[in-house]
Amino acid sequence: MAEGEVVPGGQLESPEALREVILAQRRELDELRRENADVALLLDALDAVLRVEGHEDPFANVFAILRPVFRFAAALVAVERDEPGSPLDCLVATAPALVGASWEPSRFFDKVLRGRVTATDTSVAIAAPVGPVGPADPALAGTVTGEEPALYVPLGVRRRRGMMVLLRAPGEDGFDRRDIALARKFSLLASHALAALAANRSESERQRLHRLTEELKSAQATLAHRANFDELTGLPNRSYLQERVTRALGTAGARRLALAFIDLDGFKQVNDRYGHDVGDRLLASVARRIVAQIRSTDMLARISGDEFVLLLDPLEDDTALDHVVDRILAVLREPFEVDGIRLELSASIGVALHPEHGTDYDQLRRNADLAMYAAKTRTKGSSARFDPSMSRAAELRAETERAVRRAVTERRFRIALQPLVHLADMRIAGFEVLARREDDDGTLRPPADFIDVAADLGLLDDITLMLVDELESVLPALDACFGHTRTISLNVSARQAVDLRTMRRVLARLRATGCPERFVVEVTEDAYLHAGTFQRDVQPLLAEAGVAVSIDDFGTGYASLATLLDLTADELKVDRAFISGVDRRRRSQVILAGIAAAARALGIRVVAEGVETEAELAHVRAVPGIELGQGYLFAPPATPAELLRTAPVLAERLRALAAEQQAAS
Ligand code: C2E
Ligand code: CA
Ligand code: CA
Repeated sequence: MAEGEVVPGGQLESPEALREVILAQRRELDELRRENADVALLLDALDAVLRVEGHEDPFANVFAILRPVFRFAAALVAVERDEPGSPLDCLVATAPALVGASWEPSRFFDKVLRGRVTATDTSVAIAAPVGPVGPADPALAGTVTGEEPALYVPLGVRRRRGMMVLLRAPGEDGFDRRDIALARKFSLLASHALAALAANRSESERQRLHRLTEELKSAQATLAHRANFDELTGLPNRSYLQERVTRALGTAGARRLALAFIDLDGFKQVNDRYGHDVGDRLLASVARRIVAQIRSTDMLARISGDEFVLLLDPLEDDTALDHVVDRILAVLREPFEVDGIRLELSASIGVALHPEHGTDYDQLRRNADLAMYAAKTRTKGSSARFDPSMSRAAELRAETERAVRRAVTERRFRIALQPLVHLADMRIAGFEVLARREDDDGTLRPPADFIDVAADLGLLDDITLMLVDELESVLPALDACFGHTRTISLNVSARQAVDLRTMRRVLARLRATGCPERFVVEVTEDAYLHAGTFQRDVQPLLAEAGVAVSIDDFGTGYASLATLLDLTADELKVDRAFISGVDRRRRSQVILAGIAAAARALGIRVVAEGVETEAELAHVRAVPGIELGQGYLFAPPATPAELLRTAPVLAERLRALAAEQQAAS
C-alpha cells in the first residue's frame, strides 16, 4: 500500500462518519426497493397492454396500474388523427368528458410526439381543447384547469404518433427526474406493445415483446435480490434480517429465540496482507461453513464487513444453543484455503436471547454485540452470552474512549521518567519514558487506563510523538542535572513497531531531536512475530539512525532462549516476573541466569526490570551479564519536574545502595 493512502476500514474514525455511511446505505436500499416496486408495476401495466383483445383500447387498466407509480389525478391518451402534423384526438381518459376532445398540432406537442418525455409545471398545453369534441360536453373546459403539473409521455398507438398525459391535482408537487426516467422506460415498452397489437401480434413482434418482458422480469428479480441479499456471500443482508427478526418477534409471545453476533478475528489482516479479492472469497467460504451448521428455519445474515448475525428460531434449549455456537467456532477455526493460500481465522460470538435480553431487534442485536465484544476481549475465538454487566462495561469503555480522544486533541499526555542504573556502581544510565494521561483535575493516569483504548482508536502514534515533544523540551535540564551520556528509552507497541509508516514517523521525530543515537526503542516480543516486518524492514532503519532496540518484558511472550538466537536486539529487559522474589525462587534464578548467559554470548545488554528489594538487587548483581537495573528500589517513575527537584535525594539514595552492596559482597 502506498504511503498516504487511506487504510481500508481505517477512515471511519468517528461515530458521525459511521452514521453517515449507514444512512447512505439505508437511502440506497430504500431507493432500490422503490425502484423494484416500480418495475413490478410497470410490468403489470405492460401485461395489461398485452392482454387486450382486438381493437379494444387497454388504457383504462393501464391507468389504474400506473396510478400508484406516478401518483396522477387524471390521465388521457391522445393520438394524431392521421399523418404527422395533424390534430390530436383524445382516445381514452380518466375523465370521460375528455374523450373525443382534440387539439391543434403545436411545436410542443411535436416534441413529445417525436419521443421526448416532458414534465411541466402546468397543463396549459391541453387545458384548452378545440372542437370537434366527440360526445359534446359543454363542461369540458372545467375538467382540466391548466394549473396541474403535467407529464407528457410519447406513445405510438397503432402506427400513429400519440402521447399519454398524466396530471396531478393543482397545487401538488410536480413530476421529478425519477418519474421522467420511469416514464421513458414505460413509453418505450408500451409503444412496442401497442405496435405489436397493431401488427396483429405478428410472430416476430411477439417474440421481441416476450424478450423485453423477460428482460424486465429478470431485472426485477435482480433488484429484489439486491434489496434483500448481500451480493458477496449470497446471504440475507442487514435489513432483510431485521425484517425477519421483527416478524418472528411479532409472533413470538414467550417463545425463546436467540440472536448470535459473529465477528471474525484477524480478517482485517488477511485483507491487508492478501488483498480484497482473497478477503472476499474468504468471507464467502466463512458464510458457507456457518450455513452448513444451521437449520433451514434459522437465518444467517452478513450485516457488514466481517460481521454476521445469526437468528436461531425456534430455540429448543440452552444445550442446543451452546452446541451450535461451539460447532460454528470449531468450523471457523479449521484452516481455509483461498487461491492456494492457507488462511487461519477464528471468530468471536456473542449471544442474546429473547425474551430475557431484549424484545426488539435493535436491543437484541446491541446486546449480542456487547456479548461478542466481551468474548473477544477475554479470549479471541470464544463465545459469551449477554449479561447486564456488559452494558456497564461498554459505557465505561465509551467514556474512556471519549476521554482519550479529548486528551489527544488537547495534548494532555505527560511523560514520567524512571531511571535505569548501572548495577556495578549505581550510576544513572538513562531514563525510560512512560506515558501518563492528565485528568481534568490534574491527576496523572497510568497507561493501563488508556494505552489499549488509544491503540484501538489508532491514536497511539500521536501520543508517542507528544511524549517525544515533551522529552525534547526537558532534555537540556535533565542533561544539566544528570550529565549528558544518558540513554532514553521509548516504548512502542508491537502494532506500531510492525507498521513501517508509523516507525518512519517516529524515527523522523527522533532524528529531529538532533540526538537519535541516545534513544532506545522498547518493543515487546510480539513485534517479532509479524512475518518478520520488524526485523527485516524496521530494524535496519533504526540501526542506520543509531537508534537501539530493546526487547521489553522478555520472557513473558513467545520468545524462548532458543528463539533469542533469531532475534536481533541491542538490549533485553527481563520481565519483572523473573526478578520479583528471585532471591528466594529457584526457578527464576535458573531462568535469569540462562537468559543472561545467552544474551552475553550474543553481545546483548541485559536490564533487570522491577527491582523492589535489596535482596533482589543483591541476587541480580551477582548474575554475570546483567548490566542494568530498574525498579522502585532505585526510583519510581516521576514527572520531569519532580525528578529534577528530588535529584539530590536520588543521588544520595543511589550512593547509599552502592555502599550497602559493596559492604555485603
Ligand atoms: P513497561 O514498559 O514494562 O514499563 C514498566 C512499568 O513497570 C511501569 O508501569 C513502571 O511504573 C512499572 N515499574 C517500574 N518499576 C517497578 C517496580 O519495581 N515494581 C513494580 N511493581 N512496577 C514497576 P507503567 O508506567 O504503569 O507502565 C505500564 C506499561 O504501559 C509499560 O510497561 C508499557 O508496556 C506501557 N507503556 C507505558 N508508556 C508507554 C508508551 O509510551 N507507549 C506504549 N506503547 N506503551 C507504554
Ligand atoms: Ca518498557
Ligand atoms: Ca517491561
